[in-house]
Amino acid sequence: MTRLSRPLSSMQRRYDVIVVGSGYGGGVSASRLARAGKRVAVLERGREILTGEFPARFPDLKNDFQVRGRHVKMGPDTALYDVRLGVDMHVLVGCGLGGGSLVNAGVSLRPEPRVFADEIWPGQIAQDGVLEEGFRRAERWLRPASDPRAAEMTKYAVLAAAGHALGHETVAPRVAVSFAANTNPAGIVQPACTRCGDCCGGCNVGAKNTVALTYLPDAHRHGAHIFTEIAVRRVARAAGGGWHVHAVATRGAVATEETASFVLEAPVIVLAAGTLGSTEILLRSRDGGLPLSDRLGERFSANGDIIAFGYGAKTPVNAVGVGHPPKVEGLEIGAAVSGQLEIRDARNLAHEITVQEGVLPSALAPVLPVLFLPNGRLLGALQSLISGVYRGPFASLQTFFAVSHDSASGRFELEDDRLALAWPGAKDESVYARLDAILEALVKESGGDYVKNPLAGTVMGHQPATAHPLGGCAMGRGRSDGVVNHKCQVFDGGARGSTAVHEGLYVIDGAVIPRSLGVNPLLTITALSERAMIHFAADHALRFDVGAAQGKPVPATAPGAVAA
Ligand SMILES: Cc1cc2nc3c(=O)[nH]c(=O)nc-3n(C[C@H](O)[C@H](O)[C@H](O)COP(=O)(O)OP(=O)(O)OC[C@H]3O[C@@H](n4cnc5c(N)ncnc54)[C@H](O)[C@@H]3O)c2cc1C
Ligand code: SF4
Repeated sequence: MTRLSRPLSSMQRRYDVIVVGSGYGGGVSASRLARAGKRVAVLERGREILTGEFPARFPDLKNDFQVRGRHVKMGPDTALYDVRLGVDMHVLVGCGLGGGSLVNAGVSLRPEPRVFADEIWPGQIAQDGVLEEGFRRAERWLRPASDPRAAEMTKYAVLAAAGHALGHETVAPRVAVSFAANTNPAGIVQPACTRCGDCCGGCNVGAKNTVALTYLPDAHRHGAHIFTEIAVRRVARAAGGGWHVHAVATRGAVATEETASFVLEAPVIVLAAGTLGSTEILLRSRDGGLPLSDRLGERFSANGDIIAFGYGAKTPVNAVGVGHPPKVEGLEIGAAVSGQLEIRDARNLAHEITVQEGVLPSALAPVLPVLFLPNGRLLGALQSLISGVYRGPFASLQTFFAVSHDSASGRFELEDDRLALAWPGAKDESVYARLDAILEALVKESGGDYVKNPLAGTVMGHQPATAHPLGGCAMGRGRSDGVVNHKCQVFDGGARGSTAVHEGLYVIDGAVIPRSLGVNPLLTITALSERAMIHFAADHALRFDVGAAQGKPVPATAPGAVAA
């Protein structure tokens, strides 16, 4: 596949629709509105990274981190991994054309119905039947599937054995991965997954069904103009109607109003910059005079999500990716998640837990011993440094992704023009004790030691961290209890209880989700985005089909690109 993004010089001043951000919400919006014949521009702050160009060696990976906190600012604004250090909680998100889909594990699950029965959602979400069609469309385009060979993977077998001993069965969850070669609905030819395990480092094979290989090439094929390394700062009402988007070119440099700032105009703006990005843009827009709901910034949830480790299992686990081309021969790891166990609780939804066995990207392999050593907890790490991660003690390293429910009590504010998260007491949310208990039991059953946070002795401290940020621009019935309505239209700042919206202003991404989901969020975000587009089309008398793209198929791999 050649690049989708265009040079800045070809940017027009006015479009029908400007989509800010290019994750699931942005990809769906751009594809559907371009199919409806709209002149769409996508503005993405990160870089376009083609298949074969994801960082495969540690020195490259290290340069693809941006870390931001109250007193920390490291790495370029376009780095792929965006780490926000918070006083109460840290957050990890993806940055690049395709958003979080570039670096996530692709686990694609539907929440159980009790989640949508919660009255925190506007009633239409559970009642009008459109969300179900949204899920169907999301599944048709992201094509989640269980690995037919999941149970053959060592990491699956280790989880299954420990889970079984504790009375929990392991299953192969659906992941947005092509386990067989195919041409996807966007007309991209994807090779079969090699089970290299590097999904969270970026798939250099082209088998992960990312937004960059599905919705975005579809938007491009239907005429959308895609621009990267452009960060949107705020939006404001244009004098003659419609909206102004104030943006800066990031180009790897520090983005400030002074560096190449410009203004674009459109009657419709879709903010799809993710939970952190969309909330930050609206907070800044409110400071610039745009009337918005007082609920802006509230209902942040970490989706009861943690990453934790086990070390010293009696048998090898093989949970470090080998990458592509493989760093060692003859070792099949599996996709980043092959197996999961589900702890159900019919009486108390908050107590439900999903535990997945995960994989660390191969680019981290050389430094794993160093990463784990500062705590001095992992005996044998030096030995591993010498004999190599794949044969030494690190072959028994277990990685877990666990998801559950929290109280969604975090709150974003702007602090010196920087997004800051406040959630006093976050670490005492009862979910973390429940997660620790089950993970500790699973690791013990495998014969290892539970390592809750190997980075606790570093700048990361002891705060919980999440890769599933939700909320900030939460849905509600009116402006007194939400920031957007069920169609993702932004409430204006009118009278309390008002349901009036800002015509043409939308937030369509994880920021609109008002509570934890209890499962990994990408499928729900995609389904809610498809749902918002169905309503958009109905409200604007537009038509678009969602069938497979017409035209010549395009290979997923970049011409001549081979991972280092
Ligand atoms: C390591 C990791 C593993 C994960 N694994 C899973 C998993 O297996 N399953 C799952 O369901 N979820 C997983 N997630 C979470 C999932 O990827 C996110 O929930 C999802 O990507 C959010 O989608 P979104 O559309 O809300 O925003 P995003 O995907 O975050 O996209 C937002 C985009 O907007 C861009 N942007 C931000 N600010 C601006 C701005 N000011 N101007 C222009 N552009 C901007 C960002 O760079 C980004 O590209 C994982 C996340 C991580 C980090
Ligand atoms: S396991 Fe490797 S080939 Fe398969 S989707 Fe993940 S990164 Fe791509």
